[in-house]
Amino acid sequence: MEKAINIWNEVKKELSNKLSATAYLVWINSIEAITIKDGELVLCAPSKNSRDTVVKNYMEDIKFCLNILGYSFTSILVITEDEKQFFVTEEEDDTLALLKEAKKEKPVNPFVSKYTFDNFVVGDSNRLAFASAKAVAENPGLNDNLLSLNPLYIYGGVGLGKTHLLHSIGNYLAENNPSVKVIYVPTETLTNEYFASLSKYSSDKDAYRNFREKYTSCDVLMIDDVQFLQRKGGLQDIIFHIFNALYMNGKQIVLSSDRSPREINDIEDRLRTRFEGGLMTDIDTPNIETRIAIIIKKLEKEKVTLSDDIIYFLAEKINTNIRELEGSLLKVIMYSQLINKVPTLEIAKEALKVDTIENGSNIDSNKIIEAVCQYFRISQNEIVGKKRTKEIAEARMIAIYLIRELLDLPLVTIGQIFGGRDHSTIIYSHEKISQSLNNTKVGIQIKDIRSMLKI
Ligand code: ADP
Ligand code: MG
Repeated sequence: MEKAINIWNEVKKELSNKLSATAYLVWINSIEAITIKDGELVLCAPSKNSRDTVVKNYMEDIKFCLNILGYSFTSILVITEDEKQFFVTEEEDDTLALLKEAKKEKPVNPFVSKYTFDNFVVGDSNRLAFASAKAVAENPGLNDNLLSLNPLYIYGGVGLGKTHLLHSIGNYLAENNPSVKVIYVPTETLTNEYFASLSKYSSDKDAYRNFREKYTSCDVLMIDDVQFLQRKGGLQDIIFHIFNALYMNGKQIVLSSDRSPREINDIEDRLRTRFEGGLMTDIDTPNIETRIAIIIKKLEKEKVTLSDDIIYFLAEKINTNIRELEGSLLKVIMYSQLINKVPTLEIAKEALKVDTIENGSNIDSNKIIEAVCQYFRISQNEIVGKKRTKEIAEARMIAIYLIRELLDLPLVTIGQIFGGRDHSTIIYSHEKISQSLNNTKVGIQIKDIRSMLKI
């Protein structure tokens, strides 16, 4: 069983990169690995509906990822919970050779594979940013006298696609021009690496040299979120140096930020001038047509259909941030999937309401889970996860009980919080704890946790 679980975890990691968040959370995350038998990988889906969808829509993706990771199975079998008993007791295949061809060198592509130009919906709000990112990907470092795209500086509010465009450049080059050495780095990581290399300086002079070398020897350097640059400890000096070294050698620099260089208070003027020296392009909030187009594109990718009135409702309601738009779409799909109904406008509205329900105080399910975990000294992953050791199962039931008592949440939502558990499990847990309240131990535990939460 363990081998199957480990392999499946690797596959899940790949899939989370490849599929949309919705597809991953709704369909893949709840699939469990059971065993490997006669060269066959056995997976288990929580319901028949989920099994059918995975087999129909995601099998190719699963096979693709297994292949990338170097695993080969004769076939992949997806069973449902009620068939599980026939498999769990089986011994797992022992011969690793059967499972694994010599593990292929995994192509090193650090970019999120779904962030591509193809998956980017172009509208008035982002047309120039898209076109310039594409031009940079096609001709990195190009600098003719008419137009300089170096550096390319993309700016705009959160969730509007800046990181998506940077990764698209990386993916495009990895695919079409793999000899080009591309580095993508969030400003925060760059900062941490720099200070880490400095702190080692007395014992390891190479650390600092390696840091400099790494960032000056690439062909394309993309730094995400430069608004986080701080004016401290020579950080901006080194960036200035890296910048010049690359620029002089005709290497491409791409920067993103939530604001224009002029509006970043904390940068030195000489760096600001450099940032402004190429093409600056902003991304604005998308208009309703673009928002609709984005929803339709995501639905296609997830192989889900929604009626026009729901699409319009979502596009109209969430009008500033594409990440939020995706999140709401995810909620609607998950919610209708959990209650096992074709989504209607009513259901969509309810889905978006569910996690905003409050009970007057500012207690929410996260706070309850946090308190219970702290009390029982277990991790949040454990409490929402699958483990059934006595201690974790008890803590889980108490958390479910408290959430049900204190918050006005639908059963399915509580089930969803606890890793997609069925609503009957939630009812069972609640009843079980209610009945044992007089049993002093549980009663005291609940009192303690309530007092931690001040309720
Ligand atoms: P930012 O870096 O600007 O905060 P991201 O690039 O992380 O935003 O985008 C947030 C989410 O919205 C990502 O999942 C991204 O794929 C999606 N997204 C943003 N713009 C578009 C677009 N034009 N078309 C399709 N998806 C988009
Ligand atoms: Mg970003």
